[in-house]
Amino acid sequence: MATDYDAPRKTDEDVEQDSIQELQARRSDKSSGVVDEDETEAAEGFELPGADLSGEELAVRVLPRQADEFTCTSCFLVHHRSQLAYEKKGQMICTECAA
Ligand SMILES: [Zn+2]
Repeated sequence: MATDYDAPRKTDEDVEQDSIQELQARRSDKSSGVVDEDETEAAEGFELPGADLSGEELAVRVLPRQADEFTCTSCFLVHHRSQLAYEKKGQMICTECAA
């Protein structure tokens, strides 16, 4: 029993010592600021996708465009088709922007 309990404990200590030595070796290797850059990039990469996703979800919910509605390419507001002043090259301009 005592031997079984001791064996994994020694292994843990060995692994810990190994990883600490590895960390110390990496720190001295990348003491030129590379470690800091990696951390910054990881933080930014983690935040940006989340922000993009929420923005897309919002856009889909905020603009439930109906068949009789259009999005003005000038003011980007959704208007009823009756407020469409003119359409040119796929660009739809509302009466307010055309005025
Ligand atoms: Zn407009």
